Amino acid sequence: MLQRSPQYPAEAPSLSRRAESIRPSGTSLAQIAAMTVGLNRRDIADFTIGEIGLPLDGTMARAAMEAVRAGHARYTDTLGLPELRQMIADMFAAQTGSHWSYEEVALGGGAKSGLYFLSLILLDPGDEVIIPRPHWQTFPRQVEMAGGRPVLVAHRSDGQLDMEAIAAAISPRTRAVIINTPNNPTGAVYSRDTLKAVADLAVERNIWIIFDQCYQLYTYGDSRHHNIVAIAPEIRDRTIIVDSFSKALGVAGWRLGYVGAPPEIIAKIRAYQSHITSCPNVFAQHAVLRALTDGVDELQARCRTHLEHNRELGLDILAQAQGVRLAPAQGGFYFYLDVRSLLGRACCGRRIGTVDDLAELLVSEAQAATVPGTAFSDPEAIRICYAGGTSCLNDGLKRIVGLINSRMS
Ligand code: PLP
Repeated sequence: MLQRSPQYPAEAPSLSRRAESIRPSGTSLAQIAAMTVGLNRRDIADFTIGEIGLPLDGTMARAAMEAVRAGHARYTDTLGLPELRQMIADMFAAQTGSHWSYEEVALGGGAKSGLYFLSLILLDPGDEVIIPRPHWQTFPRQVEMAGGRPVLVAHRSDGQLDMEAIAAAISPRTRAVIINTPNNPTGAVYSRDTLKAVADLAVERNIWIIFDQCYQLYTYGDSRHHNIVAIAPEIRDRTIIVDSFSKALGVAGWRLGYVGAPPEIIAKIRAYQSHITSCPNVFAQHAVLRALTDGVDELQARCRTHLEHNRELGLDILAQAQGVRLAPAQGGFYFYLDVRSLLGRACCGRRIGTVDDLAELLVSEAQAATVPGTAFSDPEAIRICYAGGTSCLNDGLKRIVGLINSRMS
């Protein structure tokens, strides 16, 4: 029998320290919890994952089938099809009022992968990134995965950025600020004034702006999305725009997102992507190219109508929840509920000490899965995605409100 040489460890091979510290996202954990309960209870309303719950659009389905039938099965250029990159450059030009070329665009496996490459490209170990809190949970984790340090700065109570606090948090190690509007999870849409103030500060302190506008199509009432480069053209060469087809075309599982940035950043994304995924999914690229060429106005109007309808319905139901304050839900597709007045109360024989306790209670007693605010560095809120099926939303929200109003003491 082979013997272990004495100079090698006696224990079984372990995992890296890096891997020991990484955890799945709170949304992913909440979804697993919902699915576990759902195995026994088919009536679970899953409000965890942020994706549009409409069936795949017929135009998109046909475009994908055509791409497969046409035999598209090989790698594309590392950064994606140049024709699709050019279309995105034209979209950026329309949004920002300045010229963009395809060389300033990188396609990748969702906005998520592009964002991670940005952390790898911009940060040396210990470099800091300002992230307004509450925040989409992946922002700080990716910064940490790249060896950087997230610096969280609380939003103002109206959901806008607290510019004084952001200015105070910037240090000589700060490399970037992440701006996400419409915001996940709060649903806030940043005003022109807020974005102008961010632009001025970024110039003054000489930092990058990572501008995530994945929910840009979805704003409601008087709220309007503004691209920060349109408001302050002088920051174009320090701004990196992140966007995605996941929410814009209802194809989150196709994993196609993109980054618009100066060519030297795009060249570094090419380098990383070439070693990590080679290129984005080929049939998804061809299908999206085809759909954009033919026009997606109808599809996008359907998504907007669905979300507007669900939002109205949900706001009406949640308005009846006693002791819960609801953020205005100006954009995106999340309700963000301030539930601090429920903490410390009891329900169904359990004490609700934390928002995690509350989320667990809602799954088991109201068959409704939500994401606790701890996932967004907020111990006093829960998030509900309202982009899924309408009747499921109606039933699940009514169960939540019923539980809060009649069974809590
Ligand atoms: N940015 C924000 C703010 C998001 O909420 C999400 C997904 O929920 C993403 C980026 C990632 O999107 P994608 O599906 O393109 O990776």
